[in-house]
Parts: sequence; structure tokens; C-alpha cells
Amino acid sequence: MSLSAILDAGQAEELAAGVLVAGVLPGLPDGHYIDGVGVPALSGERMESFDPSTAQAFARFAAGDVQDVDRAVAAARRALSGLWRRTTPAERGRILARTAALIRTHAAPLAVVECVDAGKRLAEARGDVASAARTFEYYAGACDKLQGHTLPLDTDHLAYTVLEPVGVCAQVVPWNYPLATLARGLAPALAAGCTVVVKPAETTPFTALLLAELLTEAGLPPGVCNVVTGTGAQAGAALVAHPDISHVTFTGSVPTGIDVMRAAASNVTHVLLELGGKSPVVVMADADVEQAVDGVFGAIFENAGQICSAGSRLVVARPLHEQMVQALAARAQALSLGHALTDPGLGPVNSAAQQARIAGHVERARARGVQVLTGGRVAADPASGRGWFFEPTLLDGLAPDDPAVRQEIFGPVLSVQVFDEVEEAIALANGTDFALVAGVYTRDFATAHRLARDLDAGQVYINEYFAGGIEVPFGGNRRSGFGREKGLEALRNYCRVKSVAARLS
Ligand code: NAD
Repeated sequence: MSLSAILDAGQAEELAAGVLVAGVLPGLPDGHYIDGVGVPALSGERMESFDPSTAQAFARFAAGDVQDVDRAVAAARRALSGLWRRTTPAERGRILARTAALIRTHAAPLAVVECVDAGKRLAEARGDVASAARTFEYYAGACDKLQGHTLPLDTDHLAYTVLEPVGVCAQVVPWNYPLATLARGLAPALAAGCTVVVKPAETTPFTALLLAELLTEAGLPPGVCNVVTGTGAQAGAALVAHPDISHVTFTGSVPTGIDVMRAAASNVTHVLLELGGKSPVVVMADADVEQAVDGVFGAIFENAGQICSAGSRLVVARPLHEQMVQALAARAQALSLGHALTDPGLGPVNSAAQQARIAGHVERARARGVQVLTGGRVAADPASGRGWFFEPTLLDGLAPDDPAVRQEIFGPVLSVQVFDEVEEAIALANGTDFALVAGVYTRDFATAHRLARDLDAGQVYINEYFAGGIEVPFGGNRRSGFGREKGLEALRNYCRVKSVAARLS
């Protein structure tokens, strides 16, 4: 099958010009991807995708439902017991390695598509594409190292374990990191020998479809990776409730995660939930202030704050409070807004609904008397007067039980809390229902590791927020979910252990 025209569309600059001048991005796939080919929805229904930087529709895609999901799962089942089962681990590794190379070859159009579909700044979209390639490269090396053990019983027995692929896996992906999040679930699933049906978010369907094409180009047999686009209610719900799905990796909001777990429970399907966060960045009084300001700034304003692991709470020692909030406010006010393709300081948020949700949180905070140090209003691209933007915002002096401390806003809004003693810092940091990540800034080695021990989080960053790469496991505790992605840990989600014990005499 040939690749969608956009993958060979040449330079990113030409594509970007088409979007900025005419609002078009031609050559995108417009069907599902099932059994190695693009196919329209069986219902014939299609939906529109919008450029968040302009709030204008730029392309249409298939609106899938239960019939399309059935078709994709059937293809994945056939592939599981067919060609994919007979593909050696070494060959699986070569396919994943070729996929990494193909992602790099087509990085420029992939980044433009991600930028326009998700509304993320082009530089960040380029980073996401590079991270997706690196993810395939990492798991390519794991395919032929998934091995069982021999078990020491006695001289009359031979006992050993075998790692088997769990089966057909569902990957349900959100809109904030469409390609990178999919890659971190898909690559280990394929490495383990599973087959997959992907449901991208309804506002960001395209890079998943393009990645599926590149996998086929890399030699992946038909049916091993299928993509069904459409809404969560129609396509997502049908997928996670499908009796032939053996594992669901779900990344998204807490309420949807609960629904997914319920649906999966009806078939006793294994789930991994990567849910929301309200992650604290604890800045101790001895911290390097410049380093801490840099870290906190990136932690909350990267991708316009739409990151599950965003550092959305600054928990700062009283002696540094004034200096830090002033420095952060000054830098926030200096951020330029603009079309994501022009790499502004701050891009748009993903949708009108997301913009309204963020505005609602900030309005309610204002009505409660919370101090809005800077920002706090919806905005537009100054050049066009369009788009779904929200000003970079600082909410200061918040009480531990304030909703702006306890609820995920998922936008460029930083909530500030002040502490006097280290015990208070730990209590504030752990004082929400979420436990995804935590940041720590201090020059003291012992304090850093004491906080790493006492903070309830799946991962702790010390003196650099978002430190780490695909090698480092990632996931949450409590309402941030359970299970771990990334690193060798991720492979456990897609392998099941079979024990064999034999009598020898
Ligand atoms: P969402 O829960 O609304 O949607 C996520 C995905 O689930 C989408 O593909 C959607 O179509 C699908 N979906 C919706 N309803 C479904 C259903 N009933 N059954 C099956 N699938 C369904 O979340 P969102 O608004 O797209 O994403 C934002 C949320 O995701 C935030 O809470 C954020 O913290 C979280 N998130 C978490 C991580 C992480 O790694 N922990 C990463 C990114 C985003």
C-alpha cells in the first residue's frame, strides 16, 4: 500500500505555508486503518478535525462505531494467530527499528500534522516525533530479550516459565501527546508479540493513522496494528468492552478511566490506567532559584499546561516565595501567543471545550477571592484574532483545600502554595487525590532523597523537571492510575507468564 501523500509532501515550510495562508493540509488519510489498508467507516460517517490555532476545520476523518471496531479486532485476532505469531523476535525487532528510521525520515510532515491537529508548538511537535522514533528504537532492542526462567524444583522435575504475548491489545490515546503517547504503548506491545487496535482522540486522529502506514512500510504484517478513529462514546467504548480484547492501555481523564475499567471488568480484561495529575514542584529554601524558576516555568507552560505530569502546583519555601512568583509572573507576561506553526512562546489549547474548562476553573477561583497574579483570561492569536488560547496564569497564596489546588485544570495555570517546614511541604505536596509525578529543587543531597522517599508519586524529578527518557518507567498512584509505561517495566503489560513443570522420571 502506498503512503498518504502528506508523508512525502516535502519540506515542513511548504506545508506550514499552506496551513497559514489557505488553512489547508492536503494529503492526509481519511479512513480507518484496518488489516494494512485505509478503509472508510462502514456507516460512511465522517467528522472534522480543527486547527486549534485558528479554530477552523482543516480535514475530515472516519467516524467509527462498533461495526468498525469489530472489523479491526477481527483483523487483529487473525494476525495474532497468523503471520505475527510466526515472525521471529529478531525480525520483530528489525521491523520496529525500521519504523524508528521511517519516523525520522518523515519527521518534518509528521511534526507539522501533530502541530496543526493538536495545536502544539512546532518545536514541541518535532520533539514528540523524535521521542516516538526513540521509543521504537528502544523497544526494537527488547524483542529478542524477553525470556523466561528455569525454576529450581528438584532433580526429578524440569520447570520453566515462558513469556507469551497477552493477545489483542487496545490503546486508547488522548489528544495532548497523540503520537508520543501512542508510541509508548504500541512499541512495547508489538515487541512482546501482541497485536493492537488503536483509538486516537477525536480531536487528534492523524498521526496514529500515519504511524500505522509507516509500520506497514517497515514490514509489519497486515492486521497487527489497526487504527479506528471516532468518538470515545462510539468507537472507544466499543473497543474497551470488546470480548476479544485481552489488555487495555488507557491514557486519559479519571472519569473516563473509571468507565473503561468498568467496561473491561465485564470481560475480565486487564487494564493499565494513565490518568490525570496535579503534580507539585517543591522548592526548598536552599534551591538554586534560577534553576527552579526555569524548571517550574517549563513544568507548567510547556504544551500550554496540557500535560498529565505538568508541574501545576508550586510548593515553595516562604523565603523564596516572593522572588519566585515575581520572576515567574514576569516571564509569563513576556510569553507571545501565536499560531503553533510559528513557534510562539505559548500555543493554543486543544479545543473550545478545553478552553472553556480552563476558563471555568479560573473564574470560579476568582469568585472565591483567589489572587490571580497574572493572566486569567481566554485569548486569541493576536495576528488573526482567532484560535483557542488561554493566558499564562498564576494563582497565588492558595489554601490546601482550594479546588485550584485539588482539581486538575489541564491548562497554563500554576497554583502556588507556601510552606515553612519540610514536613509541611511534604503534607502539601501529598495533599491531593493524584500522585503522578513530583519535582524537588534543593542543593541538599539528603533533603532531595528524603523528599524522593516521602513524596507519593510514580516518579520524582530532582533539580530538573521532566528529567528522564524512554528508559525511565512512568505511571501514577492513587487517582493518577496504576501500572507503568516506558522502560523495560512496560513490557510486563504485554507479556503473560506461563509456567511449565514436567516430571522427568
Ligand atoms: P478523555 O478521558 O476524555 O479521553 C481520552 C481518550 O479516551 C480519547 O481517545 C477518548 O476518545 C477516549 N474515550 C472517551 N470516552 C471513552 C469511553 N467511554 N470508553 C473508551 N474510550 C473513551 O481524556 P482527554 O480529555 O482526552 O485527556 C485529558 C486527560 O488525560 C487529563 O486528565 C490528563 O491528565 C490525562 N492524561 C494522562 C496521561 C498520563 O500518562 N497519565 C497522559 C496524557 C493525558
